[in-house]
Amino acid sequence: MLQSQLFPKTLKIAPKDATSASHKYLVQGGYADMLQAGVYTYLPLGWRVMTKISDIVREEMNAENGQELLMPALQPKNIWDETGRWESMKEVMYQFQDESGKDFGLAATHEEVVYDLVRRFINSYRDLPFAVYQIQNKFRAELRPKGGLMRGREFCMKDLYSFHLSQEDMDKYYSSMIEAYKKVYRRCGLDAKVVEASGGMFTKKFSHEFQVVSDAGEDRILYCDGCDWAQNTEISEIKSGDKCPKCGLPVKEGKSIEVGNIFQFADKYAKDMNGFVNDDAGNKQPILMASYGIGISRLVATIVEVCHDDKGIVWPESVAPFKAHLLSIKKDETASEVYKQLKNLGIEVLFDDRDISAGAKFADADLLGLPYRLVVSDKTGDKIEFKRRDSADSELLSVQEVINKLSS
Ligand code: ATP
Ligand code: MG
Repeated sequence: MLQSQLFPKTLKIAPKDATSASHKYLVQGGYADMLQAGVYTYLPLGWRVMTKISDIVREEMNAENGQELLMPALQPKNIWDETGRWESMKEVMYQFQDESGKDFGLAATHEEVVYDLVRRFINSYRDLPFAVYQIQNKFRAELRPKGGLMRGREFCMKDLYSFHLSQEDMDKYYSSMIEAYKKVYRRCGLDAKVVEASGGMFTKKFSHEFQVVSDAGEDRILYCDGCDWAQNTEISEIKSGDKCPKCGLPVKEGKSIEVGNIFQFADKYAKDMNGFVNDDAGNKQPILMASYGIGISRLVATIVEVCHDDKGIVWPESVAPFKAHLLSIKKDETASEVYKQLKNLGIEVLFDDRDISAGAKFADADLLGLPYRLVVSDKTGDKIEFKRRDSADSELLSVQEVINKLSS
């Protein structure tokens, strides 16, 4: 991609109300733009990051036999009345009437819609278990939307729903999903802790949250560095410094960002929405459900919180909008030749071909945070200055050496 054609250009100054690195850099870098509080456009660079994260999530959900679909965001009141959530989620859900007086709600979540599908299509125990998921926008009337993509009123979520005949089968799938989630976060360059939490507004049982320790977070967790024990302080009965219940080391307390949440509804929906099948002995059994969410747009912000320095973003390669940033600080065609070569090899490269100062190009490269910076200047001769965004050292390499590095 030619940077001269990229829409839009980076901003000279960061948004003045930005209190977090992700808000500041994502807006200044032209990754996201605010339409109104909590509602953002994912601009082309930001959308490339979202797409990469979504692809990772898709691969891991497909590996767990998740089947992708897309459910409506515009939902009728009647299915929400069946579970009592039209009332109980009134403060969170955008609800309104059309001209004829019919009630609608915007999707805050999709349990009601998905369970309505399931009760109509699943007639036999032989159809169970199965899981469906989508990557789609949710709408929530958040009182205090955070700047940037951290807490939006419209935000992107992956939500998967699994359906089972027995608790045992649901437990097994739930455990394998915990492992799948760990893979997703690891592949996004994050160290997410699996945290025991309350069931929240949905269920009385515990749930599991996936939390990334960061000062930009709104949650507080207790965790152990010696093992994988972690609990949300909302439910924990021990304090920072107390012994870890699992391994005995003193536990730590820290702020964290919730990047995922999974929980079992068990038979709640079967009872509320009448979802039953006969088992092989002819006994009527509830269709059990569990839900699994990942905050896709919040992940973008979380990665930036964890991966940045005082100049800008430092994307992990797996989610970077482009792999390399080629800067031409020279008036001839050398860089454009290199650009063509890299492009032909399928290497994702952003080429800063603009007629602006070298300083401005370097500043943009740091702000945008692509993993590899390639500079062609009068000083580099027939070589290229190769520098990783996460390192201060650079080296002079031939075009072929650069290609080798970027192809591995
Ligand atoms: P929170 O406690 O942060 O409000 P939640 O528990 O209400 O989140 P869930 O219903 O569990 O959220 O949604 C699944 C995931 O979607 C969350 O783990 C989080 O990563 C993401 N998410 C939830 N609300 C928002 C929001 N307003 N903006 C961006 N991402 C969100
Ligand atoms: Mg949650």
